[in-house]
Amino acid sequence: MESMESLPRPEADVRMRGFATRATVAAALAWVDQHALPLSAETVPLAECAGRILAKPVVSSVAVPSFARSMMDGYAVRADDTLGAGQYNRLPLAIVGEALPGRPFAGEVAAQQAVRIMTGAPLPCGADAVLPAEVTEAEGGTVFALDSVSPGKNVGQVGEDVVPGAVVLASGRRLRPQDVGLLSAIGQSEIEVVRRPVVALVITGNELLPAGTRPAGCSIADANGPMLDALVRRDGGVPRSLGIVADDPQSISAAMQTEADVVLVSGGSSVGMEDHAPRILAELGKLALHGIAMRPSSPTAMGRIGNKLVFLLPGNPVSCLCAYDFFAGRAIRRLGGCPSQWPYRRERLPLGRKLVSQVGRVDYARVRVSGGLVEPVAISGASLLSSTVVADGFVVLEADSEGLPAGAEVDVWFYDA
Ligand code: AMP
Ligand code: MG
Repeated sequence: MESMESLPRPEADVRMRGFATRATVAAALAWVDQHALPLSAETVPLAECAGRILAKPVVSSVAVPSFARSMMDGYAVRADDTLGAGQYNRLPLAIVGEALPGRPFAGEVAAQQAVRIMTGAPLPCGADAVLPAEVTEAEGGTVFALDSVSPGKNVGQVGEDVVPGAVVLASGRRLRPQDVGLLSAIGQSEIEVVRRPVVALVITGNELLPAGTRPAGCSIADANGPMLDALVRRDGGVPRSLGIVADDPQSISAAMQTEADVVLVSGGSSVGMEDHAPRILAELGKLALHGIAMRPSSPTAMGRIGNKLVFLLPGNPVSCLCAYDFFAGRAIRRLGGCPSQWPYRRERLPLGRKLVSQVGRVDYARVRVSGGLVEPVAISGASLLSSTVVADGFVVLEADSEGLPAGAEVDVWFYDA
């Protein structure tokens, strides 16, 4: 399974030598798709199932409603008794009782009789229609029909909403608020959903200060930790922060062995002296690929330790975001039973300026859209996270692209849905 032909075997220790070969983005995506399959199901209470992914189809064992009920406030009648009724032909009916929601009329409606009924109340025996209050006039114990109704009129029939045996929700569905309402309506108190992947976040770097710390001296505040935390939540994963881990092999090795479905290691994934993570992954499990033909994010690695998927993401924040979005996010969505695709809106728009790219690698170009035209964001370094903040979205230029001229149409992926 591991030895996919398109994947060059990565060397375990490439420090200070650089990548001899780089895997294609397509090969890396294929590895993700092969190894990230939906996790098993778990049962959650109804109140916690919104937004979760259904693990099995839901079949109703009941009819909704389970009794014929009034759709109007008015009078339950025999439709035949109203035949020919009108403003100038008021037909009298004797009021014999009352039906309220949850308080049915116990008797039977006979000919020339009516039961005062409210919306949601069960239709009494004998009646087959409801005469709306607006077309009646009551005088003491008598109600006059001012209009006729046909049989079944203003009556909600048994199973009109849901019939027993109906598949009300298909497997794989992300549960909407109204789905939760329907699940409740058919009497489901517990729902089987796909387990959410637990994602350990390992943020490496001796230069890092805890997230949100004011930077000082030659230290920088961790940008990737909070960003990854939010990305993992967006993709249906459960982030578990392991805090900032020093650039030393023992600490990184210990962190990588934590119990989780996925481990994301930020930083130390490249070919520098302090880039220990790829070698450690090769020792603990399998380093499936290291180095990808793309920019940014070229120093990305992935592999696994047992069934646990491990992604080594570059420390440069734009690379980290891009590598997460291309590979780790896809894996997390797939493990959680969500669609593989990006949760970004896509629109085809013309370029306002040329977009440069180099043959042989996939380019992730941050862009802005103004006046319907796509403009590349001027600052493009992988270390400049603000480029992704000013950008509206990004354009992916395939490996065989030499760039595109102004006027060419491109697919823009918008960061905002
Ligand atoms: P590395 O991938 O560890 O070689 O880091 C590449 C660059 O990204 C260096 O300039 C690091 O200081 C920076 N960097 C690494 N991790 C983070 C992080 N969590 N937040 C912000 N910048 C980082
Ligand atoms: Mg580092």
